[in-house]
Amino acid sequence: MPEGHTLHRLALDLSRDLLGNVVAVSSPQGRFDGATRLDGCKLTGTEAVGKHLLLRFGRAGVVHIHLGLFGRFYRRRHPAPLPRSTTRMRLTVPDWTWDLVGPTRCELLSARGVRALRERLGADPLAPGANVEAAWQTLSRSHRSIAAVLLDQSVFAGIGNVYRAELLHLVRLHPETPASRLGRAKFDELWALARQLLAAGVREKRIVTVPHEGRRRVRRDEALHVYGRTACHTCGERVTVTRNANRPMYACERCQPLDLG
Ligand SMILES: [Zn+2]
Repeated sequence: MPEGHTLHRLALDLSRDLLGNVVAVSSPQGRFDGATRLDGCKLTGTEAVGKHLLLRFGRAGVVHIHLGLFGRFYRRRHPAPLPRSTTRMRLTVPDWTWDLVGPTRCELLSARGVRALRERLGADPLAPGANVEAAWQTLSRSHRSIAAVLLDQSVFAGIGNVYRAELLHLVRLHPETPASRLGRAKFDELWALARQLLAAGVREKRIVTVPHEGRRRVRRDEALHVYGRTACHTCGERVTVTRNANRPMYACERCQPLDLG
């Protein structure tokens, strides 16, 4: 599933192509009934909030998109091919067409709907005004494991399964460490690293957590420390795969020992 960096990058790319333009909006598949209302309106803003994308069309409303597992945008320079029968939403301006296929959500929200969405989402490491104190308060009182809390979108918005595994590895925390045992210094380290790695993901359009300055291309199987790997990139130990918050959790028990002090 796309993680926060993908949505933030999409917000930038959509803004670059479409912002300030009058947009022809349609739903070739017929399942986005807000298209008729937005057709011919100007795009006034794009914003990512965690794994959610918001497209503002002035007073006409805000499109809320959640890509889910299969959702994808396709960017086409004109002349664009005919839309597929599965195209949920097509956005067309003089030079570009953007097609959205297969999202979990594509709906028109009122201002109240946008507020409700924001209220149920936690601190986004990529948002300038993220409420990091609220995340700390929740985490420091939680009896859940740190791995479960990291994936909880109401605490941290935008961190998915790949970033979760890599962040915990890099700060040397065992996934089952109770969140309440972290301490403020460790939390701050985790937050700073999340900001840094997600920002790199936006720039590079992919998740690379190994040091790679000056390298033009990092091979897919060399880009991460533990996620999806059988051997730890740091020490070579076998990576263990468990389940946490109903998702596979990759960790190295040697680099990330469980310390219950
Ligand atoms: Zn290791």
